[in-house]
Amino acid sequence: MLPVITLVGRPNVGKSTLFNRLTRTRDALVADFPGLTRDRQYGVGRIGPGPYVIVDTGGIATATEGVETLMERQVQLAIEEADHLLFVVDARDGCTPEDIAIAERLRRIGKPMTLVVNKSDTFDPLLATAEFHALGLGEPRAVSATQGMAIRPLVEHVFAQLPESAEEETPEDDDERGVKVAIVGRPNAGKSTLINRLVGEERVVAFDSPGTTRDSVFIPFERDGQRYTLIDTAGLRRRAKVKEAIEKFSVIKTLQAIEAANVVVLVIDAHAGIGEQDATLAGHVIDSGRAVVVAINKWDGLDAEAREQVKAQFTRKLGFLDFAKLHRISALHGSGVGLLLDDVDLAYANATRNLSTPELTRLLEAAVQEHQPPLVRGRRIKLRYAHQGGRNPPVVVIHGNQTEETPASYKRYLINRFRRELDLLGTPLRLEFKSGG
Ligand code: GDP
Ligand code: GDP
Repeated sequence: MLPVITLVGRPNVGKSTLFNRLTRTRDALVADFPGLTRDRQYGVGRIGPGPYVIVDTGGIATATEGVETLMERQVQLAIEEADHLLFVVDARDGCTPEDIAIAERLRRIGKPMTLVVNKSDTFDPLLATAEFHALGLGEPRAVSATQGMAIRPLVEHVFAQLPESAEEETPEDDDERGVKVAIVGRPNAGKSTLINRLVGEERVVAFDSPGTTRDSVFIPFERDGQRYTLIDTAGLRRRAKVKEAIEKFSVIKTLQAIEAANVVVLVIDAHAGIGEQDATLAGHVIDSGRAVVVAINKWDGLDAEAREQVKAQFTRKLGFLDFAKLHRISALHGSGVGLLLDDVDLAYANATRNLSTPELTRLLEAAVQEHQPPLVRGRRIKLRYAHQGGRNPPVVVIHGNQTEETPASYKRYLINRFRRELDLLGTPLRLEFKSGG
């Protein structure tokens, strides 16, 4: 599971700027989808030895609020879930009384931590860090979030502090697990019900997989000789054990599950309608590049009007998931559930398909012929040939001239076109552009 790195510190020291810096890595690969919102609190970063989950706890503790509000419940939970804390301070402000108070609290929590002196672009790094030694939290590290200074070494430093992961996943373990399917969705969407239904219905042949314990979030099963591992984010096993079925929804667990999966099943509650949380989760799924199947659950007991409403909402709010197969199911009654796995298989097969250079180039030529890329400063963008640059998700690399100027709308046109012609349902498709040569 991805390590969790959590930003703490008082407001205005640059946490959200640092968050953006730590998560912004593959933007160039992803076309801008209209309507896609990004979570400003949780993200996955891939700088240095990554990937990792990065959490921004927002501003905590201002002088007027007093230090007692420092460990507000939210922040405290976030800190508990963290593997490593980045305590961010501001080189320009120097070491403030609030910093000292926060340091005191953090020291008591005893999590591995790095002291990050941000905005060091405005100072000599040595001077910037000097007075923070007094906090007694080890060597302060000077960075600049806005300039992108010393960010990669910071991530490398954090990774060096992380405990060795207990058991390294070998390729054999991976084979053993079969297709890994993350079941994600907001609380109450029906994830646990769906997992029970899937596992129960397929006459479970649970197999022993290394690292599978009773509490594991990995639930192995087999269907028609095909192995699957469901990755549970709902705390199914835990709930059965613990009486108080408190909602243990965690964005972090969801992000980790998505990352560990080959295919994500996004479960949506048709009774509740499609809300912000669904859109945010969908955004995370898009950013991950994973193959997706959408399950609109609780389709039972909806009248015709309500059904139309949900369909319209889906198109309006989650239109960017148009590449995914959509199932209307009832996890409770079992309708539509069997077909879900067929499309999980299909999505995975498409995500890992090999695409030939001549075919991609031929499709590119046809696309360009039908609809020319625009002129930039009087010169037309030239897209000459294409080849596959990666799988899972498929990446199509396009070579030409001035390709970096290709507008988002034209990228979307190409993506849609490739997807349709190649019949690539269920997987996102990424474009990468190369100029010259
Ligand atoms: P947060 O409240 O801790 O999330 O802080 P923000 O990320 O919103 O940053 C607060 C202000 O500090 C903004 O005006 C940023 O542009 C600025 N800032 C953040 N990082 C740096 C940096 O490395 N150098 C400089 N000079 N300014 C920065
Ligand atoms: P989770 O939090 O996503 O794991 O959701 P649960 O599986 O615990 O389900 C939340 C509630 O929705 C429970 O009361 C379920 O019985 C109910 N539920 C789940 N699936 C369906 C469904 O297909 N139809 C209806 N009507 N209720 C469902």
